[in-house]
Amino acid sequence: MNCEIKTIILGGSSGNCYLIKSHIGFVLIDTGGKSKRKKLEKELEKAGCNSENFHLIILTHGDYDHSGNCAYLKEKYGVKVAMHIRDERMMRYGRAIKYKRKSKSFIKYLFLLFIKINQFKPDFNIDEGFSLSCYGINARVIHLPGHSRGSIGILTDDGDLFCGDLFTNIKKPEINKIMENELDAKTSINKLKNYLIDKIYPGHGKPFPLNYLS
Ligand SMILES: [Zn+2]
Repeated sequence: MNCEIKTIILGGSSGNCYLIKSHIGFVLIDTGGKSKRKKLEKELEKAGCNSENFHLIILTHGDYDHSGNCAYLKEKYGVKVAMHIRDERMMRYGRAIKYKRKSKSFIKYLFLLFIKINQFKPDFNIDEGFSLSCYGINARVIHLPGHSRGSIGILTDDGDLFCGDLFTNIKKPEINKIMENELDAKTSINKLKNYLIDKIYPGHGKPFPLNYLS
């Protein structure tokens, strides 16, 4: 792929962001959490992102640690935002968290209920098969429900998979234990066997080759 991928690991509880630069301009995958906004803005500036060349934000899913800066960046750069329709409600109501069984204690869940993101309406929805070729990127969207109903991955023709929170690499590369629907997650993981995947770009932690997955 004739594109550059810049991995932006914001750290803390914030999700990663991935900035893809093509001959047409920039596409950002996920926007991290609000608390890391300054760090993200610096990285975007360093890469040469501006309101002329920053064309699209793709959210892999609606959680606040991935969507927390989306409304702000949309306003600042006039950039379009795309996500799957099944997570869109989280953005419209500014409640970017869902209940995930087995993953959070009740107290932690209550705490998360108070986290609000700036509400916004995505510009358009994307689903299985959506191509990024008009942004100069040879990649397409795969619907990967499990972590949330509207979770998506972006797979490049080179086998790079931006998987959102389906996989994680916080302690080691593994399938994320935080799932809204475990059956859907299993189906999504099986579905990936149909594709040629080389490297995983997870929502948290460093990218890793697919064969490192435990
Ligand atoms: Zn998540």
